[in-house]
Amino acid sequence: MAKITVNENVCKGCELCVGACPRNLIALDKERINAKGYHPATLTDEENCIGCAMCATMCPDCAITVER
Ligand code: SF4
Ligand code: SF4
Repeated sequence: MAKITVNENVCKGCELCVGACPRNLIALDKERINAKGYHPATLTDEENCIGCAMCATMCPDCAITVER
């Protein structure tokens, strides 16, 4: 199990991380809106995250940090 942290106020809701996750564990959080007016990305299932960091690598704004 790994942990990812999304810097929500940097996220622009582009969904590149959503498509990058090999396990489909990331989604935009439709319940929340950040300071820029976007739905921020969130990890939907921490138990199944393998810490591969594909999401962090893909993010153009370096909004994701992965801890293993
Ligand atoms: S670290 Fe890998 S498995 Fe975990 S959320 Fe990011 S892309 Fe998905
Ligand atoms: S790739 Fe980065 S900016 Fe785009 S939705 Fe994911 S966390 Fe947000």
